[in-house]
Amino acid sequence: MQVLDSFADAVGNTPLIRLNRLSEETGCEILGKAEFLNPGGSVKDRAALWMVQGHERSGALQPGGIVVEGTAGNTGIGLAHVCNARGYSTVIYMPDNQSPAKVEILQALGADVRVVPTVPYANPDNYQKQAGRYADSLPNAVWANQFDNLANRLAHYESTGPEIWQQTNGKIDAFTCATGTGGTLAGVSRYLKEQKAEVEIILADPMGSALYNWVTTGDATMTPGPSMTEGIGNSRVTDNLDGTPIDGAVQIADQAMVTQVHRLLKEEGWFFGSSTGINVCAAVEVAQRLGPGHVVATILCDGGSKYQSQLFNKDYLKERNLVTP
Ligand code: PMP
Repeated sequence: MQVLDSFADAVGNTPLIRLNRLSEETGCEILGKAEFLNPGGSVKDRAALWMVQGHERSGALQPGGIVVEGTAGNTGIGLAHVCNARGYSTVIYMPDNQSPAKVEILQALGADVRVVPTVPYANPDNYQKQAGRYADSLPNAVWANQFDNLANRLAHYESTGPEIWQQTNGKIDAFTCATGTGGTLAGVSRYLKEQKAEVEIILADPMGSALYNWVTTGDATMTPGPSMTEGIGNSRVTDNLDGTPIDGAVQIADQAMVTQVHRLLKEEGWFFGSSTGINVCAAVEVAQRLGPGHVVATILCDGGSKYQSQLFNKDYLKERNLVTP
């Protein structure tokens, strides 16, 4: 029998999907790693599993313990699944500018969700810092700390990177994705560069983030925003991102992202979230620059249902001066 034994065993080994229209338009192979097919529904299941395993191995997390995290949502969802399966409880701090669906999912999964005011990272009441303080105040509790816990990028170095390399038979020319913690880009970049130094690694950034400037000028100064994307962009270079080989960056506006996700749905049946829209737009830009005949891979981070009330709501988009095609 071919069976998986647990939630953990169902994480990863996702398919690599050819995006047909974009491949035809660019003359390249535009390939998306189907992270929305992870059992918790996003690319963050990998990081969640690796971080929990890391805290178990270090002895910091003992049976019946508590995992605390500050998250835009998907890491919390991954953690709640992994923790339920292993007998831990989960406390999630979330900024109040995220889609309500993510809060509802976390509550349904049994996490103790604390939605806190959105304040900059420098503020001691930033959601990440509140999570760290709360974990410190409890016995047998750990702060997952996805931004600076290197188990996050290790997940992608040990799983996502090797899978993309094998699935493309090493014929990959470029990889691009947006970063929140940077774990995905950092882990995949490190693995691919070790196999083939010429693979181009391009960071995709939404508006209102500092990472495009960091890659292109060395200065992590914020670009004008805002962006309606969730889970990506950052005001600082995390430990996970630091030292990553990156060859360039592209900046994608919300309108291009909105047009892309709506066309992917209408023309090819894919229902994706906003970060995937940014990633796919970036893959197209990279392919156009490289010219026909190249293989460009990106991440299909999560599905569209969590963003239904915004990204797939014409009135919401109109309020933001965004139009659907
Ligand atoms: N897309 C979505 C929907 C996410 O939730 C996240 C994580 N916050 C990312 C992309 C970025 O992934 P990473 O944290 O590995 O940079």
